[in-house]
Amino acid sequence: MNNYDNPVQAEWHPNEWVTPPFEWELKESDIDSEMCKKCTATDLHCCQQAIFLAGPLNPRLYELISTMIENIPELHIRDNGEIILTCSHLKKGQCDIYETRPQICKDFNCVAHTKVQGHLEIYNKVLKIKKENS
Ligand code: SF4
Ligand code: SF4
Repeated sequence: MNNYDNPVQAEWHPNEWVTPPFEWELKESDIDSEMCKKCTATDLHCCQQAIFLAGPLNPRLYELISTMIENIPELHIRDNGEIILTCSHLKKGQCDIYETRPQICKDFNCVAHTKVQGHLEIYNKVLKIKKENS
């Protein structure tokens, strides 16, 4: 048994990384179409990619970039300067090319991914959704 199987509460800390021992409250099987629909209704999910990390932006540059992308619905800017691309196939929380979506989309499970990658940001958001709906 490795340390990841030992119990510790997962709290809502957006940028926290896993420090063993840690109990995985979410299981891979918790991720289904209903969970994904709730998840994609908010920011921060797997159908988004950070396409440009500009670092801390000064207010003028932030205003400029915000203005440049304000008519591109698939793009938005986070406070930290990340420009986020939301997949254009995500429509009302669902993938409109579900059967022919890219292989990486078919393979992806955010719980399994977190167990490998260790970054809790999306995991904790999904855990919060689960708790709010249980
Ligand atoms: S991050 Fe997880 S819950 Fe959210 S859409 Fe992706 S697979 Fe579904
Ligand atoms: S193709 Fe579908 S599953 Fe893949 S990122 Fe776009 S909306 Fe999400």
